[in-house]
Amino acid sequence: MKKFKKLFDVNNFRKILFRIFVGIIAFSLIGYIFSLIFPRKNNPSAYPDTTPAVDKLTYWSDKNGTVAKDIEFIRDSDYKCEFIEEYFQYGLLPKITKISNNGWNLLLLNKNNILPTNYEVNLKQITGTSIRLESPVVDAFNSMYFDATKVGLALTPYSGYRTFESQRRLFENKIYALEVEAASEYANGGSYDAQGNYIEPVRKDIKTIVNEAASYVCTPGCSDHNAGLSIDIVSQNDDFEQSEEYKWLCQNAHNYGFVLRYPSDKEKITGMHFQPYCWRFVGINAAKEMKEKNLCLEEYLSSVLK
Ligand SMILES: [Zn+2]
Repeated sequence: MKKFKKLFDVNNFRKILFRIFVGIIAFSLIGYIFSLIFPRKNNPSAYPDTTPAVDKLTYWSDKNGTVAKDIEFIRDSDYKCEFIEEYFQYGLLPKITKISNNGWNLLLLNKNNILPTNYEVNLKQITGTSIRLESPVVDAFNSMYFDATKVGLALTPYSGYRTFESQRRLFENKIYALEVEAASEYANGGSYDAQGNYIEPVRKDIKTIVNEAASYVCTPGCSDHNAGLSIDIVSQNDDFEQSEEYKWLCQNAHNYGFVLRYPSDKEKITGMHFQPYCWRFVGINAAKEMKEKNLCLEEYLSSVLK
């Protein structure tokens, strides 16, 4: 009973509180000193290994097909980095593109060449839309648009200049879509080849998916749209490749300084899947030469301008 009373004695209770307090302070100090001696490695600019920072494979285990809906693109919270640095770990390591004397219109942006974040664009709006491009590109587009209307075609602008952030959103949406697709393919089980042999479903890892996404949508800072140099054009026809507008562009766009940025026969060189709607301004001289020699921008810049 005495002991019990002692425990609730005010002075003694204060002592206990004080000891707990000192204990917490001492623990925190030890932890702090420890963290100074052994700092956590979370520097993404060093060349990271290829293992995903987040275990993305957990959702694969469910074969009921419903999991795909709930996938989130989770990030390692320690991975505090901007734009492209997030994808270093998956092997996407672009160098800052050279701002050369070739002119702003011959800027090379692709998987290996990224725009510096301080690159300045001089944007102008396409009248009647919210779409903006480098100022001279708008003028070139307007005259191309006007001439197309003379033959009854409407080159409807769909997308022009994009910030790094909006490019990042597009890219991540593509990653998400591919993840969902891969997860549901896996959940649906394997397939059979022509001989009737069962093929096990393939587990795609996140590195494969991110790289696949990068062949459909440019990584942030690596798109011509980030420099206001490309315009995506759509038409009434859902399949733009089959539209009259696409045919007209193929025959005439070079006269206004535009080229098809990702042609179907240059996928290996551009690293991108064919995009019939994506037209890049390079200037009339370059466009005509590229058209004449059937060169994509990568080929033109590496051969002709050397
Ligand atoms: Zn485009």
